[in-house]
Amino acid sequence: MSSRFLCECGQRIDKNLFSGNQVKLLIAEEDFDRDFAGLSAEELVQELIMKSLTVVNCQSCSRLYVLDESEQNPVRVFLPERHDRGK
Ligand SMILES: [Zn+2]
Repeated sequence: MSSRFLCECGQRIDKNLFSGNQVKLLIAEEDFDRDFAGLSAEELVQELIMKSLTVVNCQSCSRLYVLDESEQNPVRVFLPERHDRGK
């Protein structure tokens, strides 16, 4: 999978953690309970990145993408709730 993809609205989204595009990591609480003694700061960051899902918002339409590249279908898309629906 490329480090970029197109949002359903057409906006290009960069999922590279170091792109400066507000890419976030979603980490299970249990992964913080591990004993990290003996790891360098760099190794710790690498461990956390490996165990995390990548989360990124589309800056244009606010869709939330949760990316898990360990799965066969690695992209889940969430739409923000619209308060004007049903009116
Ligand atoms: Zn979008």
